[in-house]
Amino acid sequence: MTSKSAAAAARATVYGYPRQGQNRELKKAVEGYWKGGVGAGELRRTAAELRATAWRRLAEAGIDEVPTGDFSYYDHVLDTSVMVGAVPARHRAAVEADALDGYFAMARGTQDVAPLEMTKWFDTNYHYLVPELGPDTVFTADSTRQVTEFAEAAALGLTARPVLVGPVTYLLLAKPAPGVAAGFDPLTLLDRLLPVYAEVLADLRAAGAEWVQLDEPALVQDRTPAELNATARAYRDLGGLTDRPKLLVASYFDRLGAALPVLAKAPVEGLALDFTGPAAANLDALAAVGGLPGKRLVAGVVDGRNVWINDLTASLTTLATLLGLAGRVDVAASCSLLHVPLDATAERDIDPQIARWLAFARQKTAEIVTLARGLAKGTGAIAAELAANRADLASRAGSALTHDPVVRARTTAVTDADARRPQPYTERAAAQRARLGLPLLPTTTIGSFPQTGELRAARAGLRAGRIDTAAYERRIEEEIREVVSFQEKAGIDVLVHGEPERNDMVQYFAEQLTGYLATQHGWVQSYGTRYVRPPILAGDISRPEPMTVRWTSFAQSLTDRPVKGMLTGPVTMLAWSFVRDDQPLGETARQVALALRDEVGDLAAAGSSVIQVDEPALRETLPLRSADHAAYLAWATEAFRLSTSGVAPDVQIHTHMCYAEFGDVLQAIDDLDADVISLEAARSHMRVAGELATAGYPREIGPGVYDIHSPRVPSTAEAAALLRTGLEAIPAERLWVNPDCGLKTRGWGEVRESLENLVAAAREVRDGL
Ligand code: GLN
Ligand code: ZN
Repeated sequence: MTSKSAAAAARATVYGYPRQGQNRELKKAVEGYWKGGVGAGELRRTAAELRATAWRRLAEAGIDEVPTGDFSYYDHVLDTSVMVGAVPARHRAAVEADALDGYFAMARGTQDVAPLEMTKWFDTNYHYLVPELGPDTVFTADSTRQVTEFAEAAALGLTARPVLVGPVTYLLLAKPAPGVAAGFDPLTLLDRLLPVYAEVLADLRAAGAEWVQLDEPALVQDRTPAELNATARAYRDLGGLTDRPKLLVASYFDRLGAALPVLAKAPVEGLALDFTGPAAANLDALAAVGGLPGKRLVAGVVDGRNVWINDLTASLTTLATLLGLAGRVDVAASCSLLHVPLDATAERDIDPQIARWLAFARQKTAEIVTLARGLAKGTGAIAAELAANRADLASRAGSALTHDPVVRARTTAVTDADARRPQPYTERAAAQRARLGLPLLPTTTIGSFPQTGELRAARAGLRAGRIDTAAYERRIEEEIREVVSFQEKAGIDVLVHGEPERNDMVQYFAEQLTGYLATQHGWVQSYGTRYVRPPILAGDISRPEPMTVRWTSFAQSLTDRPVKGMLTGPVTMLAWSFVRDDQPLGETARQVALALRDEVGDLAAAGSSVIQVDEPALRETLPLRSADHAAYLAWATEAFRLSTSGVAPDVQIHTHMCYAEFGDVLQAIDDLDADVISLEAARSHMRVAGELATAGYPREIGPGVYDIHSPRVPSTAEAAALLRTGLEAIPAERLWVNPDCGLKTRGWGEVRESLENLVAAAREVRDGL
């Protein structure tokens, strides 16, 4: 095909669409089913209606080829496990008794059986259920759901392309099943898995699918030669099948790197590549391998995981270049639209001027269609859209919201010295010891206390106007009183106010910072039926007023013991929000850091001697390619230090992270230069304590001794044993005693008892020193 006819054939498509429906109908139906109010038939009907509505909406918008199989009751990786028959032994009985209940048992567990583990889908905030595989795993094909959903779309008269998780990514995302040696490599099961994929492909072909998409996002991560060989083998085998649809192998979230030549050579009919952000490097890489002559290229030029309008002119330039590199070029979002909210026009509280800069799933669909039309018919055919897009981009670039001269002057003036505490740690530690006078093995908590029903009711009441601000604030004060008095009685050394005023650790701050937007309907699936509304970092960030000082001071006024100030760190603020795409992430982080620095300063000025800045997202935000780690960690750790380095040496800075695997960020943790770090460690038997100690970490550490992910109350003996394990690695002068994480999801009963045991354990071990 010449590049002119390649252009004329350009089509618009997407890989997936938000599942929840306009009013989160899916959440309601699934939760209703769990509670018993909704029957299985009704749930299935609701799901089918939601799928049909989404397809119709896509088709009406001009999408030429709609995805099928992207829908899920809970998670598409779990669906893949069902498709290949990889049901863990402990769930088999439930699945055989009832497929749907068995499916939810794998997702959520039951009274007797643990669910599959859940973890983040690459560097997004979507969570998938981790396949559990072992040398005994037998795969069997079940293409029912894929075939049914394809048939549903076909019945609507639509051209549909089933989308499956690819076999290599599926295995790379899996972990050894319980009881299987940790060294077991699921990829060794590839030869057993491929025939199952072959069967599903044949079934889809028989159902009428011309194309099937196999998603291989795991190939955008660093891959070993063995993994790349396995990829080559997988697609040689699948490509060599005779009874199969055309194969489109998709990757997204980053550039393919060494996997690109492997896939370009594979005997498949098309590739779908991401061309946004760091994945734009795919363009040169594709040219370097000689393009995809005679093949289909689906170009992900519209960012599928952020909320901003596309630069249509720039995308057309990319598409025009790609035309010379493939037999046919189609236009898509970079990844499934699952990661963005449904419709920006539903946001009535956002200034209409600013709302024009936003593109959620529906708006992105329109952009894709416009681009495909522009590619096929020339820019003249989309002149009006291009003009409107240019005007919107200009309004964003020229807006006072995105360019606040005061904020800009401040970030530009930041020096390396601003982001460092002037005194070395040892000097600070001495000053803090003198000021705080804490015992050895001091006890503390991570911040939040149980969020009671009354508290949530008060918050809802305030929103609905049933109670006024004064009444709400009285409620908060009462909670703080209770939390402080409990901690004093329990004998905790460094207290917290309990965070009762926070709905969420990011949103609470976003609401108070200028430049941050909240949405009313911007729901995005986090996992299963849990949806979140990430705030949007839209403009330059500044802090009009102190955000937490009043509550911390109130708590401090109730006690002589130190009350920790409690803030969310800059990296976590970025990680759990939609970020700006018109400036480097590090610049946005620096703006947030300066706002937090002011807050830290105000807390210190109000008398806080201990201030905690949480960074639970530091590690999960690591770029997918290790080549990008150093640059990320440089700005991330600088932002943390910038937030915390403006205080006197006797103010003790704490940080907190909730994970137990640290391999790749040990150095970064050191670079934060926090005086104290608390970490999750109860389940891993203090492993992180040993790791940090071995790495020569010089400051104080609080490895958690109370697993807050479970309602179980740890006994005094248990907590004491963990502390003694901790002492094998960390000297008593540097060991803290605390839970793994905040207590907001727990009940008061368990929390009381657990913290009393934790204090008793600290005393017991302290007395034995
Ligand atoms: N301070 C927060 C809390 O206790 C920390 C939460 C977190 O680490 N995710 O809730
Ligand atoms: Zn935590």
